[in-house]
Amino acid sequence: MREAQAFYQRSISDPDGFWGEQAQLIDWHVPYARVLAQPNPPFRQWFVGGETNLCHNAVDRHLATRAEQPALIYLSSETGEERYYSYAELHREVNRCAAVLQSLGVKKGERVVIYMPMIAEAVFSMLACARLGAVHSVVFGGFAAPNLALRIDDAKPCLLICSDAGMRGGKTVPYKHLVDTAIAAAKFPPAKVLIVDRGLDPDMKWLEGRDVDYWDAREEFRDAQVPITWLESNEPSYILYTSGTTGKPKGVQRDVGGYAVALAASMKYIYDAGDGKGAGETMFTTSDIGWVVGHSYIVYGPLIHGMTTIVYEGLPIRPDAGIWWKIVEEHKVSTMFSSPTAIRVLKKQDPAWLKKYDLSSLKYLFLAGEPLDEPTSRWISDSLGVPVLDHYWQTETGWAMLTYLPGIELAANRFGSPGFPSYGFNIRIVNDMTGAECGPNEKGVLTVVPPLPPGCLTTVWGDDSRYVNSYFGQFEHELLYTSSDWAVRDDDGYYFILGRTDDVINTAGHRLGTREIEEALQAHPALAEVAVVGVHDEVKGQVPIGFCTVKDAALIATPEARAALEKSCIAKVAELLGAVAKPYKLHFVASLPKTRSGKLLRRSIQALAEGRETGDLSTLDDPNALEEIRKAVGR
Ligand code: AMP
Repeated sequence: MREAQAFYQRSISDPDGFWGEQAQLIDWHVPYARVLAQPNPPFRQWFVGGETNLCHNAVDRHLATRAEQPALIYLSSETGEERYYSYAELHREVNRCAAVLQSLGVKKGERVVIYMPMIAEAVFSMLACARLGAVHSVVFGGFAAPNLALRIDDAKPCLLICSDAGMRGGKTVPYKHLVDTAIAAAKFPPAKVLIVDRGLDPDMKWLEGRDVDYWDAREEFRDAQVPITWLESNEPSYILYTSGTTGKPKGVQRDVGGYAVALAASMKYIYDAGDGKGAGETMFTTSDIGWVVGHSYIVYGPLIHGMTTIVYEGLPIRPDAGIWWKIVEEHKVSTMFSSPTAIRVLKKQDPAWLKKYDLSSLKYLFLAGEPLDEPTSRWISDSLGVPVLDHYWQTETGWAMLTYLPGIELAANRFGSPGFPSYGFNIRIVNDMTGAECGPNEKGVLTVVPPLPPGCLTTVWGDDSRYVNSYFGQFEHELLYTSSDWAVRDDDGYYFILGRTDDVINTAGHRLGTREIEEALQAHPALAEVAVVGVHDEVKGQVPIGFCTVKDAALIATPEARAALEKSCIAKVAELLGAVAKPYKLHFVASLPKTRSGKLLRRSIQALAEGRETGDLSTLDDPNALEEIRKAVGR
C-alpha cells in the first residue's frame, strides 16, 4: 500500500510535476506551456497551449510500431459478423470516413451526432470526428426519438450518422426510422444524414437530398489521407449527455489533451495493461459506445495504449451464456470490463459455461457503474480465479474516481468497496448540510476538492452556469465538486458508495433521472400526478416503479382496465424515452404523499416500496396518501 499511497499523495501535492510526467504518455504536436491553469475556478485548464489530437494518439502514432497488430475486432453474435482491423487498416478506414465527413461539411468545432449500434463504423465515425477536430455526440441507440431530438437541439449538429438498424436478441431494431421522427421534431435538424446501411431494415426510407449512403461515399475516397486537425488541449473533443435531476439531460463536455493523458495513465496504473507492446493485449469492455465506459474503454483508452479492442454487438447470454468466455478464449482477452448487472445475469445461468473455455489469458475483470454486491463479487472471483476489481466513476469524470491500482501495487480487495481515491482526485466525504469533513465510518456526500484532474468534464455544453451550479454549488463556504453519491470511508481507508443523494437512479448500470420518467408518464392523457422511485432489484440493482393518480377513476375501475392502462402508460415511456427507461411496475393510487408545501415525498415512497421504515414524516400533509402507497405495495 505504501507505494500506491505515495503515488496518490504526489498527485495531490504536486499536480504539475505528477501530470507533467503522465503527459509524456501521449504525443504532442505542440508542447504545452503550462501543466495547469485555473484563473477562474472551478474551471481549469490542463496542458495549456499544448496541441494534440485523440485520433492521432489512438491510431496514427501506432503505425510506426504496430501497423500489423490487430487494433479492433468487431464481433456480432446477432448477425454472425466477425471483422478484424489492424492498426494500418483502422487508419485507412478512419481516413476514408473522415474524408466522407469532410465532403459533407464537417470541420473543426462542428458537432456530429452519432446514433448507432455496436458496429465498427460507429468507432470509425468517432475517430474520424476526432481527426477533423469535430465534436462528436454519441447518443445511446436505446434512446427513443424525442430523447434524440432533445440532444440534437442542444448540440445543433451539422451531420447525423446512423445505420439502418441494430439487432438485439435476434430482433431488428430500426434506427433510421427513429432518426427521421427525431429530426422531424427537432428545431435544429442536421443538414445531412449519413447512413451505414447494414441491409437489416428493408423498409428504410431515404430522403432525397439529405440522406447519404456511407458505402457509396466511402467508395469515392479509397485512398484518402486526411491530415490531422491539431487542437489546443482544452478545446472540446466530445459531448455526452447524462441524466440529472431535471428533465433536461446535461451535455458533459470533454477536452482533448487532458482526456488523452488521463486515459493513457489509467491504462497503465488502473488497468495494468502492460506496455501494450506485445500482441495478445486485448481489452473486452462489454458496455456500449453510447455510454462513457464505451467512449473511454472501448474506443479511446485501449487504442491510445496500443491494445486490441473488442467491439461486440450482442447479449451476454446469446446464443448461450458462454459467449463472453468464448470471446475471451478466441481473442486472448487480457483485460475485461463489465457491469455488476451483467455478472448477476450470468450468475443465474449454468456455472458450467465458465469452465468450458480456456480463460488463462485473462488478467483482470473490472466492474463499474453500480454497486457491486458481495455474493456477485465472490461468485465471479471464485469462478474466474483472477482479481475482480470494482471501481467507481461517473460520466462526468471520464475515468475512475475510486479504484485499486494494480499497475502500481494491488491492495487487498475488500468486498463491496471500489477501493481508494484515484490519483488526481482530492476526495473528501462531507456532511451534506454543513460541508464539514466526515470522519471514518461517517456517512456523507462524496466530493472532490478542485481542481478536477485531467479527463473530467470541462463544462456543460453551452451552459457554463449549469456546470458551476449543479456540480459546485452545493456548499456556500467552499467550491467542492459534488458527485451526488453518499459514501463512507472505513478505518482502513477503503471507500464505500451508498447510493445517490438525488433523484437519479441506476438501473442495470444506466443512469436515469426519475424526473425524466415522471415527465414522460405525465404526457399520458389519463394520468394526473406521478411519482417515480428506484426500487432495489436483485439483478438490475434498481428498477423504476411508478405511483400514479388518474384523471378519471373509471379508467381503473376493473383489474383489466388497470392492466390495460398500465401497459399503455409504460408504452408511453418507451415511446418518449426508450425501452431502457420503462417502469417495471405502475401502481394506481388515489393520492400521492406530499409535504405541506406540495413537494413529493419520494424518499418515503421509496422506503415503503422497498419494505423499509419511512423515516421523518413531520412534513407529511395527508397521512392517507401514505397509506395508499403502503396498500399498493402490499405492506
Ligand atoms: P454514469 O454517469 O451513468 O456512469 O453513472 C454514475 C453513477 O453510477 C455514480 O454516480 C454512482 O451512483 C453509480 N456508480 C458508478 N460506479 C459505481 C460503483 N463502482 N459502485 C457504486 N455505484 C457506482
